[in-house]
Amino acid sequence: MITVAEARSRILRDAAPGPVEPTTLLRALGKVLAEPVMAPLGLPPFDNSAMDGFAVRSQELAGVAAAGAVDLPVSMEVVAGCGRFRELAPGTACRIMTGGPIPPGADAVVPVEEAWEEAGRVTFRKAVSPGTHIRRAGEDFQAGDRLLEPGMVLTPARIALLAGVGMVEVKVHAAPRVAILTSGDELVPPGQALRPGQIYDSNAYAMAAMVSEAGGIPVRMGVIRDERDATWRQLADAASYDVILTSGGVSMGRYDFIGEILQRHGDLHFDRVAQQPGKPFTYATLGGKPVFALPGNPVSTLVCFEVYVRPVIRRMSGLREIDRPRVWARMGETFAKKPGRQAFLRAILERTPDGVMARLAGAQGSAILSAMARANALVIVPAEASGLAEGEQVEALALDSWN
Ligand code: AMP
Ligand code: MG
Repeated sequence: MITVAEARSRILRDAAPGPVEPTTLLRALGKVLAEPVMAPLGLPPFDNSAMDGFAVRSQELAGVAAAGAVDLPVSMEVVAGCGRFRELAPGTACRIMTGGPIPPGADAVVPVEEAWEEAGRVTFRKAVSPGTHIRRAGEDFQAGDRLLEPGMVLTPARIALLAGVGMVEVKVHAAPRVAILTSGDELVPPGQALRPGQIYDSNAYAMAAMVSEAGGIPVRMGVIRDERDATWRQLADAASYDVILTSGGVSMGRYDFIGEILQRHGDLHFDRVAQQPGKPFTYATLGGKPVFALPGNPVSTLVCFEVYVRPVIRRMSGLREIDRPRVWARMGETFAKKPGRQAFLRAILERTPDGVMARLAGAQGSAILSAMARANALVIVPAEASGLAEGEQVEALALDSWN
């Protein structure tokens, strides 16, 4: 049986950023840039007014100090979008709107709140220094400047930046398409009535949600019944996707065929990891595609995905930061286990004046879904440890529900 660290490094060895493809800005949110972006133009593209007001030659307002006021005729008006760049006649002012191009000759803008306009003339009662309320061409950045780096996630602000320089498309890493299969004769889709012995197929939903959250595209491929030929047929179909994800059918039961099929038709890299939950976690390649065969117990499925599959999908999506943030916390209660397997405890972290405290989110069985649903972290208990003492410092993987 291999360790969690060995399993992770074996898996991540095979994972690389996916192919590069163009995407339109409206579809770019959350995708990862595959190339640097250079500014095709500077911003702002021309000197423009930061205020609604009057553009003036600043030295013409210098007389305010002695006379108390200066008034100038309003000789022109510039609105936002105005394409004429006519010179401001000396001895006059230009009524200007926010975003309007500064007319040549003018070197300052007096806001409308500090100017009094009447009968074609405008009065100023304060001097103004050159450059006031003017947004200079290129003050944000200039043509040719490097704006964004490969590996950056496209956030709303970064998409705004790309749109702001007139781009309509960028190169990103293609999101991996992930085939999702669950296995078991007992499974029924939610929405149908349960007959005796049946349970709802929660793992299909768990896996689809986790794939989306990680940046992949989930493709639901239904349920594999506990039958050898069907298992092979459905796995073979799934091998046309970038990643194959299954749940169940990898334990020691008589009808657990997934491991056997992967061994026979693909390359089985390992089928046991020294961890709890999730010991039967199996990693194989089939037709060159990675297959993550997660154990069927709902908590095992979720935890194995967190630890092994999420980082792979994130790396394939082009992300550099692939793991959950690690948080140190103080354990609020004791926990006992046998040495040998690394434990991932479903826990609730809480910020307190004494630092972050951790307590168990409920019973720790691998079928106790409610505790997993309450948890905001997975507390790591090293394989060799025989438990945790109250007050002990522990390391935890912070899940989405933390923060
Ligand atoms: P298996 O690994 O197939 O033996 O499944 C282990 C346990 O997980 C059994 O109790 C199954 O009923 C349960 N299980 C397997 N698949 C699912 C699923 N898709 N949704 C919910 N529970 C499941
Ligand atoms: Mg089963």
